[in-house]
Amino acid sequence: MQSLILSKEQLQEMTAYVNSHAPLESCGLLAGRDSQVQKIFFVQNQAQSPVRYVMDPIEQLQAFEWIESNGMDLLGIFHSHPTGPETVSPTDIAEAAYAVTYVILARVDGEWRANGFWIESGLVREVALQVT
Ligand SMILES: [Zn+2]
Repeated sequence: MQSLILSKEQLQEMTAYVNSHAPLESCGLLAGRDSQVQKIFFVQNQAQSPVRYVMDPIEQLQAFEWIESNGMDLLGIFHSHPTGPETVSPTDIAEAAYAVTYVILARVDGEWRANGFWIESGLVREVALQVT
């Protein structure tokens, strides 16, 4: 099973970010090396929606350029589900365009939980999030 490694602080930072944007969905990118997240990019959700996210294309492009010029890889894409569910939606599956871990931060019973998924050709499998 694949995994994505991130620090407790990184997870807290992401959770604080998505919580501050709830009830709207929010999103961002995770970059690093060898499955270890080293940098988080918070990207504006152009859709400004509680059920959908569309990354601001300019911010996304700037992040991609930074990742490349710093010799890192795009490891993950995260977004929130402020009212759940804890899994990827049919839209998330249909729109998954990158071979990266999709991290869903879902708020269930007032608590945020993070889960990782790999989406390929319409199939979804779980990716373990290792919080160190
Ligand atoms: Zn989603």
